[in-house]
Amino acid sequence: MKRLLVVLAVCAGLVFAMAAGAQTTRPKVLVLYSLNVENDHVLFAVDALRFFAALAQKDNFELQATTNWEELNDSNLKQYRLVIWLNEFPHNQAERDAFERYMTGGGAWLGFHVSAYNDKHTQWPWFLTFIGEGVFDANSWPPLPAQLVVDDKHSPVTRGLPEKFVSPTNEWYRWKPSPRADSHIHVLVTLDPENYPLGIKGLLTYGDIPVVWTNTQYKMVYMNMGHGDRIFTSPVQNRLIQNATEWLLSLARKGE
Ligand code: ZN
Repeated sequence: MKRLLVVLAVCAGLVFAMAAGAQTTRPKVLVLYSLNVENDHVLFAVDALRFFAALAQKDNFELQATTNWEELNDSNLKQYRLVIWLNEFPHNQAERDAFERYMTGGGAWLGFHVSAYNDKHTQWPWFLTFIGEGVFDANSWPPLPAQLVVDDKHSPVTRGLPEKFVSPTNEWYRWKPSPRADSHIHVLVTLDPENYPLGIKGLLTYGDIPVVWTNTQYKMVYMNMGHGDRIFTSPVQNRLIQNATEWLLSLARKGE
């Protein structure tokens, strides 16, 4: 009886070890967000966390979410295959430097909406080159749906998307210069000029306005979506976000 108990204990230990082993082979994804920001950006983050939690289950990755941006440090970041910024960006130099080292070292990033916001006060030259040199120029207001054009139908990020689709209510940003002017930027989705004039109080009336793009020197995708609680109401757009996540995870896996 005693021996049987020992065998059972060993078996239980093995099962536990196997489960733990299976745990560690799942890729880890870190989601960073803030709650002390514009309310519509918090609403987006809440919906996004739900979306990514479901995707983590489906695609078998481990999702960790935090509002502590100090988690952008070397020893913490090295365990993650993908880092997602939902509604904020790092403000101090130590966090910025750690993120830069993570990306230049082969890490992957998915950024939404205000996460790429920058102006003359930002003072982070590397990040500006990372996102394609575009400084925030103008926005549409109030938030409205808009028709988007898929620039590259052959990218894994746009797989299964129609040539044009209506993206749900969002605040749209224009960048100056357009990231398309940067030779390292590959634009995937653009705001259709047929939307102009877009907005009421804040009007977008002209310009080339990329909405989703990648910098081919990094494993990264930026998406302008991320304002309010309507973002995940479009199955087409959800597919785009899922595609981008899965593509970045696959790229990061290749780099290991
Ligand atoms: Zn916004």
